[in-house]
Amino acid sequence: MTGDGPGGLSPGAAAAIRDALDAERQETLDRITALSREFNGIVESSAMVATDDEHDPEGATIAFERAQLAALIDQARGHLAELDEALDRLRQGSYGRCERCGRPIAAGRLAARPAARTCITCAAPG
Ligand SMILES: [Zn+2]
Repeated sequence: MTGDGPGGLSPGAAAAIRDALDAERQETLDRITALSREFNGIVESSAMVATDDEHDPEGATIAFERAQLAALIDQARGHLAELDEALDRLRQGSYGRCERCGRPIAAGRLAARPAARTCITCAAPG
């Protein structure tokens, strides 16, 4: 017991954030597994019927669904990387600090988005 947690967070608060990040990480991993299974299922079924993507309307739909799933998988992987970075920051004690302006990120924002790297002001477009 050192008293202070990383980045001035109390040990209890740091543990709660780690739990939230871990839970979201597991959820994201499950999502990637489910999406990958769906993606592979489409690839397999389309291979069996040997559709022609360009002329068969069914083939175009399959290609579209595959592209959508691929995008969702990419998105989930990106989110997973963000969560891993947030866990790293938590270990290093820089968690909860805006990486652009250096000010603390509001607790409400972190509760909604535990992997947030910027404060709400810096995250706002424009
Ligand atoms: Zn900021």
